[in-house]
This record gives sequence, structure tokens and C-alpha cells, in this order.
Amino acid sequence: MQTGLIIRSTGSWYEVRNDDGHIYRARLKGKFKIQGLKVTNPIAVGDRVQFELEDELENTVVITDIEPRENYIIRKSVHKTGHGHILAANLDQAVLIVTLAFPRTSLGFIDRFLVTSESFRIPTTLVFNKADILKDEALDYQREIIDLYESIGYNCLETSATEGANVDVFRNLLDHKISLLAGHSGVGKSSLVNAVAPDLQLRTSEVSTFANKGVHTTTFAEMFEIAPDTYIIDTPGIKELGLADMAKEEISHYFPEMRDRLNQCRFHNCLHINEPGCAIKDAVGNEEIAESRYWSYIGMVSGEDNRK
Ligand code: GDP
Ligand code: ZN
Repeated sequence: MQTGLIIRSTGSWYEVRNDDGHIYRARLKGKFKIQGLKVTNPIAVGDRVQFELEDELENTVVITDIEPRENYIIRKSVHKTGHGHILAANLDQAVLIVTLAFPRTSLGFIDRFLVTSESFRIPTTLVFNKADILKDEALDYQREIIDLYESIGYNCLETSATEGANVDVFRNLLDHKISLLAGHSGVGKSSLVNAVAPDLQLRTSEVSTFANKGVHTTTFAEMFEIAPDTYIIDTPGIKELGLADMAKEEISHYFPEMRDRLNQCRFHNCLHINEPGCAIKDAVGNEEIAESRYWSYIGMVSGEDNRK
């Protein structure tokens, strides 16, 4: 028996990498049931598994067991069957690449992403790319935004992929970790990845042709090793993490700056909208909680689609 890491999943078969770096084609033996989870795929990229050699010549193995997950991200099925789809497991961090230049990422989108990653217990860094094309005033504004997110506890980084600014810091951020990279198309995700892992280019284009050939893009995920023990997951469809399966009452728990104040509201089931004696609204009034964050919260509680 060997142990390894799932680095690719198509839904019907997997690629597993053993601890020596050898990659096998893997399938599941029997049915895997995961306690308390209704999922369409029992195993995802990032899972650590146990497997047995099936056919040495064919390089195939059979997965016999899956190790407990540190965390995972799941997306609810679009078919409303109540089933979810695990996109990736055992993530060390998420890195959301945004830009306040073009195509400008909205604060609503950033906050929605952060709420989701909080709910999955995945630490998140915000990378503000294209700093090179921001004029003075826009740069000042970006610094304010960065101050805001740092004050809440999020790590932030200003980069320019084209000028190479802070690309080394971005590289160090990924070192020895499994990172989920996310961001709207056009923000410079590929440029940043190419800057830190130029050899990956070919494989990335290979993936998009593969994904375009009618293979289930939602079930498809792949993890790239860009340096020893350093993986990135850049999955089609992952840039817009849904709000999973979150109750309204739950959302404020995923705003770290609200979390500590929740027990100060007069009503324990306060949604911080119009209720009297609301500690959250007081904190917004005192500028202890940023208005932009509060409005993002209101958007989420009222079920507004904030994905843009
Ligand atoms: P992706 O869709 O997020 O992977 O974005 P790309 O990496 O393909 O970049 C989209 C466009 O933005 C390309 O024309 C890049 O050259 C440009 N771009 C990426 N990073 C930067 C940056 O830091 N500064 C500037 N000025 N342009 C950038
Ligand atoms: Zn309240």
C-alpha cells in the first residue's frame, strides 16, 4: 500500500502522485461514502489517499482509502438535487487576484469571496495586480482599501505582473503550500503564474483545450506543481465560489470584524438590518466597521447577486 496526493480529477478517473513524485492513473474501488456529506464526487484534487498498484505496465492503481480532510471547498449542484460537488480539498490558502484598474474588481465581489473562504476556513490573501497603471489618486485609494483589509486581518499584496513588481513576494507566498488561485478573467492571473512558473505555460494551454472538448468542466480540476511541494489549483469555474449553503444568520460570522461584536446586539437573532440595539450598525456609525463591508453584508443577506 502507498499514500499519495490527488493532483487531477475528471470525475471518472484520477491522477495520484506518490511521495516519490511518481504519477499513476487511479480509479476508485467500490463506493465511497463520506459521512454527513451529499456529494457527487467522493474524491477531489488535494485529497490524500491510500492506494494499491493494479497494473504496473499500465501504471494504474486502485484507491482504497481517503484520509480525513483539513478543509474542502464545495459547490452546490446546479441541478438542485441537494448534492454538492467538492472542488478541492486540503487547501493551505486561497489567493484572490483582483485589480482596481481594468477590469476592475468590485469590493462586493471581494467580500463575497472572503465570506466563502472564511466559511471553508481557508486563509486568504488579496493580490492587487496592475498597480503599474494606477494614477496617483487611484493608488492612494488602493492603499486605503489595502489598509482596510489588513485591519480586518487579511494579508494583502500589491503587484504588477508586467513590471515584475512584488512578483518575488507572490512567489514566496505560494512556497510549500497548496494554493487555490482565483480571480475574474483579465485581472492578470495567468501573467502572475507565468512570471513565477514559466514552464507551466504549455500545460495550462493543454488544460484549456482539454476542458473545451466537452469534458465536464465542473468536474474537472487539476493541481500544478510549480516548485517542489508547491502546488497551485487553477480550476475553470472556481473564480466564482458560490455562497455554499449559508443561512442568513450565519453570514455575519464570516465577517471577522463583525464576529466579535455579535453578542452585543440586543437580539440574539439580529440580522443587523433595522433592529434596535444593533452593535454592528453602531460600529458602522462609529466607523469601526467599514461602510463598504456593511453594504456587502446587506447585499448577501438580501440575496443579491454580488458576483460581478
Ligand atoms: P487572466 O485572465 O487573469 O489570466 O489575465 P491575463 O494574465 O491573461 O492578463 C490579462 C491582460 O492584462 C493581458 O493583456 C496582460 O498583459 C495584462 N496584465 C496582466 N498583468 C498586468 C499588470 O500587472 N499590469 C498591466 N498593465 N497589465 C497586466
Ligand atoms: Zn445586530
